[in-house]
Amino acid sequence: MSKPTLAVWKFASCDGCQLSLLDCEDELLAVAGAVEIAYFLEARRQTAEGPYDISLVEGSVTNEHDALRIREVREQSKTLITIGACATGGGIQALKNYGDVAEFAAAVYAHPDFISSLDKSTPISAHVKVDYELHGCPINKHQLLEVLTAFLHGRRPNIESTSVCTECKRAGLVCVSVAHGTPCLGPVTHAGCGALCPAYNRGCFGCFGPKESPNLPSLSAKLAELGMRDGAVDRVFRTFNVEPFEEVRRG
Ligand code: SF4
Ligand code: SF4
Repeated sequence: MSKPTLAVWKFASCDGCQLSLLDCEDELLAVAGAVEIAYFLEARRQTAEGPYDISLVEGSVTNEHDALRIREVREQSKTLITIGACATGGGIQALKNYGDVAEFAAAVYAHPDFISSLDKSTPISAHVKVDYELHGCPINKHQLLEVLTAFLHGRRPNIESTSVCTECKRAGLVCVSVAHGTPCLGPVTHAGCGALCPAYNRGCFGCFGPKESPNLPSLSAKLAELGMRDGAVDRVFRTFNVEPFEEVRRG
């Protein structure tokens, strides 16, 4: 029996989430044994024609060409899974949604007239149907393996929807916010990183995006109390998951 085919696609992104798949060193042979890696330009030059059983999509849509390309990817994919903050929420590049794109281009490029860019960076789900979204910047490789395994076996992925605080307490870490007054987005951020930043005495930066039903007004008040003033609270929510946090704040 032929193996299910896997395709990995890149849109506007830094490649960090695709690298998470290559970073599955111990499990990579098992993955390669379970699926035929049919299209993955970061890993191999050889490609196979679609349709594909599973497509992993990294990156957001920031230009007209990609807005068309994602439709073609969707047509060729039985299951489409978006991976990372860029693909699920528009990424850091969604900062441009709150600025003047022409002004940015003029500041960065010698010939801004060569640049063709949409006014907004949008998640893949704004363009096509998405079967599953895996959050993180970058994603957690163990969660990626769980999602792949689940879809190969026809079940829902077992990805917890709790907050970073839950992981933090489970790891027995001292709360940096309570103990040191360090601002931390852990209470409103989706679990998945294993409370990496608090483990190094830093506050959480919200890489995995908002958890289900986050209480942003309450945390914003706490952040201000901890000394974040003059737009600092706005800025801390506009990092890796600009749009998902802004959406929650707009209500
Ligand atoms: S989500 Fe983060 S790690 Fe992944 S591609 Fe985007 S910027 Fe890179
Ligand atoms: S350090 Fe941050 S993530 Fe950990 S318990 Fe405190 S607020 Fe939550």
